[in-house]
Amino acid sequence: MASSYEPIVNANPELQSYYHSLESRIGFDLVLGGARHFGYWEKDTYWPFPLGRALRVMEDKLGDTLALPSGARLLDAGCGVGILAIHLARSRGHRVLGIDVVDYHLAIAQRNIARAGLPAAQVEVAKMDYHHLGTLDAGAFDGVYTLETLVHATDVPAVLQGFYRLLRPGGRVVFFEYDHDFVRDHEEVRDAAAKNEKQPRPRPKAFKDMLEEAGFADVMVQDYTDNIRPMTRLFFLIAYIPWLIVSLLGLERYFINTVAVIDGYRNHDRHQYLAIAATKPSNGEIVDVHLAASEVPIQYATPARFQQTNIFCSTCLKNQYLYTTALSQFLPEPDDPDYSQLEAAIPEFRERLEQRYPQCCARCEPKAKAQLEHVTYQARSDHIRRMLERSRKQRLGSRLGWRGLIISATGALYLMSLLVQLLWHTMGLATRDALSHTLAECIPGGKVPLGCSKLIEPYVGWSILLGLLCSWWNPQWQRKVQGQDGKLSGLGQYCQLQLVLLATRFTAWIWCVDFAPTHNLEILHTVFLVATLGLSLCAMLAVRFDPAAPLINWDYRAPDLVSGNQFAPRSLSNEPHFDILTLAQTTTPDLKPWQPPPMQPAETDEMDWQPSQNFDAPKPVRFRNTGSSPFYGALPALSGPATGHGAKQAIGIAPSHFDRKGPFPTKDNAGIAMADPKFFPRSSDTGLEDIFDQISE
Ligand SMILES: [Zn+2]
Repeated sequence: MASSYEPIVNANPELQSYYHSLESRIGFDLVLGGARHFGYWEKDTYWPFPLGRALRVMEDKLGDTLALPSGARLLDAGCGVGILAIHLARSRGHRVLGIDVVDYHLAIAQRNIARAGLPAAQVEVAKMDYHHLGTLDAGAFDGVYTLETLVHATDVPAVLQGFYRLLRPGGRVVFFEYDHDFVRDHEEVRDAAAKNEKQPRPRPKAFKDMLEEAGFADVMVQDYTDNIRPMTRLFFLIAYIPWLIVSLLGLERYFINTVAVIDGYRNHDRHQYLAIAATKPSNGEIVDVHLAASEVPIQYATPARFQQTNIFCSTCLKNQYLYTTALSQFLPEPDDPDYSQLEAAIPEFRERLEQRYPQCCARCEPKAKAQLEHVTYQARSDHIRRMLERSRKQRLGSRLGWRGLIISATGALYLMSLLVQLLWHTMGLATRDALSHTLAECIPGGKVPLGCSKLIEPYVGWSILLGLLCSWWNPQWQRKVQGQDGKLSGLGQYCQLQLVLLATRFTAWIWCVDFAPTHNLEILHTVFLVATLGLSLCAMLAVRFDPAAPLINWDYRAPDLVSGNQFAPRSLSNEPHFDILTLAQTTTPDLKPWQPPPMQPAETDEMDWQPSQNFDAPKPVRFRNTGSSPFYGALPALSGPATGHGAKQAIGIAPSHFDRKGPFPTKDNAGIAMADPKFFPRSSDTGLEDIFDQISE
């Protein structure tokens, strides 16, 4: 279509500077995401968001108004950054040539087209002026449109004539234009408006007249003024304060958009947003869409070349393939009578397969182990990242939350119950003579409380009960409330000591109150005071907090993958690496539309042919996850919550004290991907000795 001539472009520096101005770029790029047109709302709303949806609706309206079949060739006169052209190409399969005079737009449009991932040449942009379209072939387009760009035309009739020439007979022209004709209505902004308008824009009737004068027929004009009002109102609200400042400083001529927005909204009854469509009369000529001229290139999905792992040699790859294939085809259909029997036989079958086809040889083992260690390292760092994130969230969330308060209160109550008992023992060992009857008699006079222990006794019972109720508290809870990082050790010891302490306290209470011979009471109190104090101190000292200790043991050695007497393949140092991809056809298939074979005329003497064999369709590959292998997938699949016990077990982290309460993974229920792989030595030299026995069975 484009000839060798350089198209004439009126550089129009005023237009360039208008679109390049900071004001325009803020409005278009930040608010409208690069679009340079209004959105469409079915009905007026004070909440115009999301704007993007309304913008796309407007673009679809334009596509609907064009009413051209998929693959039509379009000219986007004033394409801006190419958003509409890309949308029409993507949603309707049109081929679009976008033209613009603003270099800044074209550069971004090129980038947007590249990012859109459309077939080559479906959307192209060129620097061209719609006043000078002589370089494009006459009749080369099925449709021409402008979206709020005709306002920049200096000679609208000439532009229309150019469009007429470019269209094939029956081609469509569509303008979506905002007719905010403030030049005539508002003298005060004439200067500002004149910067991007050389002549008054046409009124609706004037549009119709001009289109018909240019030769177009079936002119349709629709008023979308009400449908864009949510956006004009939004712009009015955004621009109002800047407009006040601009007006105060008398800078209207430098802020065209701001002034136009305020003015346009205030006088919205005088301005109209119009959708104008017209057709170039066909006059009996052929009106086919230019589909045959250049077919839209169809993009076929191409198979992604999966990354070949260089870990395993050809022998191992072959064994792994045989292993998975045999395993996946082991089970029959679920309605088979032998199904449950075979299902039960899977572990034994798998074991035999592992013996027959060792999954890793001695030469591949170091690489496989390195990969395992790498993956484990990644899983552990992922785990620690999640742990830290969780603790950070908890720190923000629960320090003053009800959980934090309950934990702190429990800790305080536990300490109180311990202090009551210690006080009782201290009083008890002082003396047991002079019995007082009330606590009030003991305390005055500054004397050592004599024999008051008897009065505290009932409270001691309650305090032991309180201690029992609060015994779930431990320093770990307090640390979690405070959200400290770092590692606590010795929690298990702490809990055991607390149990012993509670038992001791209870024994002390029973003995001192009920069973003790009265003359030994002082000794008993002394013994239990020392025991209680000692146990409490031990429990406190048992817990060590190390903020610098690593939360995870990074040192991980993968287990041996090869047993000592496993068959090792001959040295293949010179053998080229087996490329599994060569098994499949890698050349791009020649994709041609399928043509049904020509129907044979029915012959009367046709043989009544019956197949002598039953050709069943090949059995679909069935795979049941019957076990785990470290070689499928990069990361082990974590079952259950990411930081649960299973997850820690899966990446080889010893469960902490509190994790032990959960279901402990045993050999049987450790259905986690990273269970220790089992490799068995080969019982024979090649593993193929039994293959014929298998077939004859
Ligand atoms: Zn190998």
